[in-house]
Amino acid sequence: MKANYDVLIIGAGLSGIGMACHLAEACPGKRIGILERRHAIGGTWALFRYPGIRSDSDMFSFGYKFRPWHELKVLADGPSIRRYIADTAREYGVDPVSTMQAPDSPAIARITPAPCPPTTPASASA
Ligand SMILES: Cc1cc2nc3c(=O)[nH]c(=O)nc-3n(C[C@H](O)[C@H](O)[C@H](O)COP(=O)(O)OP(=O)(O)OC[C@H]3O[C@@H](n4cnc5c(N)ncnc54)[C@H](O)[C@@H]3O)c2cc1C
Repeated sequence: MKANYDVLIIGAGLSGIGMACHLAEACPGKRIGILERRHAIGGTWALFRYPGIRSDSDMFSFGYKFRPWHELKVLADGPSIRRYIADTAREYGVDPVSTMQAPDSPAIARITPAPCPPTTPASASA
């Protein structure tokens, strides 16, 4: 099955998911796809799973401005970051599909714009 997209994002890591969420909110009428070659979203944080993996930056800076980090750990472990990216994607209706799961379809993702969470004053400047 072929699909057409207005915007195609390469990679469902922190950056790609963040871009998709921004676009889902700013351009609700656009067809946005994410092309991800792996079976998982999260990029780096889905790939590396060795014990003790964590961020070097504080999560208040590393996380999305539009969805601030609320956990207590400032330097977060890998699974927490992976969950944070996945939860953000879900919240914004971003649903990447792996190329491996849809080999006949070059553009493999879909974003079903879910009702966006209300923009808070803090995230309005993001
Ligand atoms: C242990 C560790 C700790 C880190 N800590 C920090 C930190 O504290 N602060 C910081 O700023 N950075 C840190 N980084 C760097 C971190 O990788 C990035 O900040 C961030 O996660 C990168 O996100 P990204 O979405 O840009 O790239 P990635 O996470 O690399 O995601 C890219 C995605 O694109 C996909 N992709 C690539 N090419 C293609 C293609 N041709 N077709 C389809 N899909 C493709 C990949 O499969 C991947 O899922 C750390 C990295 C590691 C390994």
